[in-house]
Amino acid sequence: MNKQSIFKNFFNSVDLKSSLLFLGIGLVIIAMTLWNWHYDVKPRLINEAQSNTRVLASSYARSIESQFQNVTGQTDISVIHNSINEMLLINDPTTGEKLYYGITLEVDYDAFPADYDLVNFNVGETSCKSCIITENPIYKSGSGELIAILKIYANPVFYQRLVEDIVNDLALMLIGIIIVLVVAWLTSNRLMERIREHERSLVYEIAERKSAEERLHQVAAYDQLTNLPNRYLLQADFARKLEESGRNGKMLATLFFDLDNFKEVNDVHGHETGDALLKQVAKRMSGVTRNYDLLARFGGDEFVMIMSNLDDRLDVNQVVEKIIAGFVPAFDLPGATVHITTSVGISIFPEDGNDPNELLKNADLAMYRAKAEGRNCYQFFSSEMNLELQYSQWVATNLRRALDDNRLKLYFQPQVNLETGAVESCEALIRWPQEDGENINPDDFIKIAERTGQIVEVSNWVVNEACRVTREWMDQGYETVRVDINLSGKDFANRGVLYKFLQIIQRHHLKAGQIGVEIAENILLEPTDQVINALTVLHNAGVHISIDDFGTGYSSLNSLKRLPLAGIKIDESFVHAAPNSKDDLTIMQAITLAGQGFGLDVIAEGVETEWHQTLCKEVGCNTIQGNYVSKPLTPEDFAARYLKKN
Ligand code: C2E
Ligand code: MG
Ligand code: MG
Repeated sequence: MNKQSIFKNFFNSVDLKSSLLFLGIGLVIIAMTLWNWHYDVKPRLINEAQSNTRVLASSYARSIESQFQNVTGQTDISVIHNSINEMLLINDPTTGEKLYYGITLEVDYDAFPADYDLVNFNVGETSCKSCIITENPIYKSGSGELIAILKIYANPVFYQRLVEDIVNDLALMLIGIIIVLVVAWLTSNRLMERIREHERSLVYEIAERKSAEERLHQVAAYDQLTNLPNRYLLQADFARKLEESGRNGKMLATLFFDLDNFKEVNDVHGHETGDALLKQVAKRMSGVTRNYDLLARFGGDEFVMIMSNLDDRLDVNQVVEKIIAGFVPAFDLPGATVHITTSVGISIFPEDGNDPNELLKNADLAMYRAKAEGRNCYQFFSSEMNLELQYSQWVATNLRRALDDNRLKLYFQPQVNLETGAVESCEALIRWPQEDGENINPDDFIKIAERTGQIVEVSNWVVNEACRVTREWMDQGYETVRVDINLSGKDFANRGVLYKFLQIIQRHHLKAGQIGVEIAENILLEPTDQVINALTVLHNAGVHISIDDFGTGYSSLNSLKRLPLAGIKIDESFVHAAPNSKDDLTIMQAITLAGQGFGLDVIAEGVETEWHQTLCKEVGCNTIQGNYVSKPLTPEDFAARYLKKN
């Protein structure tokens, strides 16, 4: 309710109208009394004050004078009707003798205003009342006029009436004032009541608005699921905390948390369980934060914590280790008990950035490194990570163009059977030539493509190209060998992609057995049903599947038994170390024995020297691949050197 509407309401009320009527009456009464005072009583008082000697005296003195003249001259007193005895004392100006002249005056009272009495009649210095002096002559002035002063006074009737008038006026005035005061009091009361009412409604309105604002703030600034501040509140508080730490010359740490494999919890147990997990995670993390730390849900399964006013980096280690340890006990959720871990990236102000965005970006980058390091750990940001980021961005943009412009190449490296000397298969290795003629190391850009998801397109291109080259060799009349392509873990995330590969093989009128697939060992660390199904689909179709870089990852011998595999490749690091390390030689031997025991082909990679080759033979591994035999070759060179014509 605004000011205008209060007054509108107020004036509309009946009470107010009657109040105004009374107020008007009161004011009229006061005005009337003032009017009466001004135009009646006041002039009368002034008149009375002036009448004593001058106003009335002068006029009546003249009439009396003429009467005296009559008295002294013709002595015709009979003209005065009501008689009054007065004594006249007249000083003789020549002798100074006091002359008295007694006279009986008959004064016409009707000639006087009703309220006035002729009470005194002075001649010279003497005044007396009701005395008769008869023998003295009348004193005349130089001009022969009688000097006489008539003194009249207002009589009690006058005062009585005056007092009555004043009392009446005052009474009326009082009534008017009382009316005005009463009305003013009543209306002011009423007005105050209205104002208070308005204030109350205003207070209520403000309270309502405030609580609505608070609700809005809660929705806008807090995450509704976990009740933690959301990213908007985080960003607002971040700048303040940063400024405070800067002012105090302290450090500030930005911790970026991302839950490991959270998506799987959602996929396997449903979103409700996922939500319940996020709530419990938020609770456990909050339990570790200090009072002045800020923990926010950044979105999805990401949390950000700001630790401000730090003296020592080690404080961060302590807190983050506590948080990671807090994830160890299982999470009891409705319908499931779940184990989950988190990867944490940390950036520090002022070393790693001066503004919230930069610190968040760098903490995020460090978090990715923690993921790459095997998850369930934390990483502090380093400037190399920034260079990596720039490189990753460059790769992402340019790989896209290279794919579009068909500038990628496949090279082929032979795999030789030492017993027969025959090349029975080869590995297709991707090359990305640059304008300067150099190739970008696939180890570098493949990892980036896996992160950005571009790997699926890259693998698609590789399958196509491997099939196209094989087809071309066949068309050129060569006896072809199996071409093994490298696939990434991401290719197994989508079953459709693998069906598409089989379709590509068919489209080139090839048999599935002409193409082999190498998969990294770490995919098999904990093979999901999805991966096992995908491998089974390929295996059943006749695709040769081998595990690449065997021995470096974590796969157990058990996985060799459980999975539909056809071969394993001993990682080149064992081969390179074998000449000087009995242990590595022993591992090579063990892998070879185990692989052969499971009926798998065993290939040694990275054979660079004759000595490497000899050691491979010694451990019983009779198929080798490496620069000692040949570097990866173009399709033409490979065909010319290793393929037989039909
Ligand atoms: P990988 O699958 O283990 O490939 C073998 C690597 O060893 C190749 O490196 C090959 O050139 C190299 N090599 C061959 N002989 C020797 C040798 O005598 N000494 C040494 N030191 N190295 C030798 P490249 O071509 O640089 O590939 C590196 C990795 O990149 C591959 O390792 C593979 O994991 C990945 N990669 C290569 N091509 C592809 C591809 O088309 N798709 C996918 N997803 N990954 C690929
Ligand atoms: Mg390989
Ligand atoms: Mg390898």
